[in-house]
Amino acid sequence: MSEAVAGAVAERFEELYGAGPEGVWAAPGRVNLIGEHTDYNDGFVMPFALPHITVAAVSRREDGVLRLHSADIDGGVVELRVDDLAPETDRNWTAYPAGVVWALREAGHPVTGADVHLTSTVPSGAGLSSSAALEVVVALALNDLYELGLKGWQLARLCQRAENVYVGAPTGIMDQTASACCEAGHALFLDTRDLSQKQIPFDLAAEGMRLLVVDTQVKHAHSDGEYGKRRAGCEKGAALLGVDALRDVPYDGLDAALDRLGDEEEVRRLVRHVVTEDERVERVVSLLESGDTRAIGPVLVEGHASLRDDFRISCPELDLVVDTALGAGALGARMTGGGFGGSAIVLAEAADVDTIAKAVQEAFAAADFTAPRVFEAVPAAGARRLS
Ligand code: ADP
Ligand code: MG
Repeated sequence: MSEAVAGAVAERFEELYGAGPEGVWAAPGRVNLIGEHTDYNDGFVMPFALPHITVAAVSRREDGVLRLHSADIDGGVVELRVDDLAPETDRNWTAYPAGVVWALREAGHPVTGADVHLTSTVPSGAGLSSSAALEVVVALALNDLYELGLKGWQLARLCQRAENVYVGAPTGIMDQTASACCEAGHALFLDTRDLSQKQIPFDLAAEGMRLLVVDTQVKHAHSDGEYGKRRAGCEKGAALLGVDALRDVPYDGLDAALDRLGDEEEVRRLVRHVVTEDERVERVVSLLESGDTRAIGPVLVEGHASLRDDFRISCPELDLVVDTALGAGALGARMTGGGFGGSAIVLAEAADVDTIAKAVQEAFAAADFTAPRVFEAVPAAGARRLS
């Protein structure tokens, strides 16, 4: 499958740029199993990679020119000069790959230009991290071509810097690390403080279960601002509690911490979500490691309630997915990603999946919501060279 994709992308590259590419690379989108809004609190996350990938054909250039083309965007080849790249000057899709080149050069890596053509099967703006897939595929290609010798986690850091500083989007480190470092058949237990990671076996098919992603197709117009507010609230909580990050509030010290926050009701709710969510990630890790996979269902549901009631970033469509799926027999379900729209995940016995998917579709129709996109997520490989 990937060979055919790589061949087609290389052919299009040759049509655009007059010669074949030096190589073709792929990087996946991701869903987060558990650990939401913990990554900017130095906490734990547990994403896994999707089979949906962004594929890029790339060649080096030595003349300082960066040419970018996406099959998924109307418009032709965009030509930039690497010397001219500057943060927050580009509001288009090209800011993501250009930001990666900028971040590599800022870090002292001698990247002197490139020709890039890419295409993606990662739904864009659905909370499945098409932006990280785009950054990571470009970073990996340049790492290989320019023989930079950077490891996955280092590429992830540079991609995060590209997104935070160059694009101007304040995101944590989870998405890029997931795209760069995940392994097929595993979820990635990542400590976002020191970036230490552990691959946790997560092979649902072998145990008779399946996991659905339900993309609500809702994109909240204010999600960036709300994200910033939550983030600022978490920082305020850490400051009031005298810790570097909310990760440092121990789960068994949560009640005492909440007491200390007194009448800061908003901050108390944010703190409660983050501290309990870190505990839920650790609980899911130990359940999966002890082979008790079905028991993670209720933990996912707890996580959803916490995001809905304490962190307040769910929306009617996401709640409807979760409630309907549970009502139709799912083992667990929760919203995933930044919130205010995007996608939810549903864990279910393989035999129940079709009934659940149908129930969700019907509930959306009855509520007059846009029909959701439902697909199965099989934990897939992280970024890699295809040819
Ligand atoms: P998400 O990462 O959840 O999909 P973001 O808003 O972070 O959503 O990133 C989506 C943006 O990434 C798009 O608006 C576009 O600028 C860029 N992007 C993603 N995929 C592609 C693609 N295949 N071609 C060009 N740009 C893309
Ligand atoms: Mg994104």
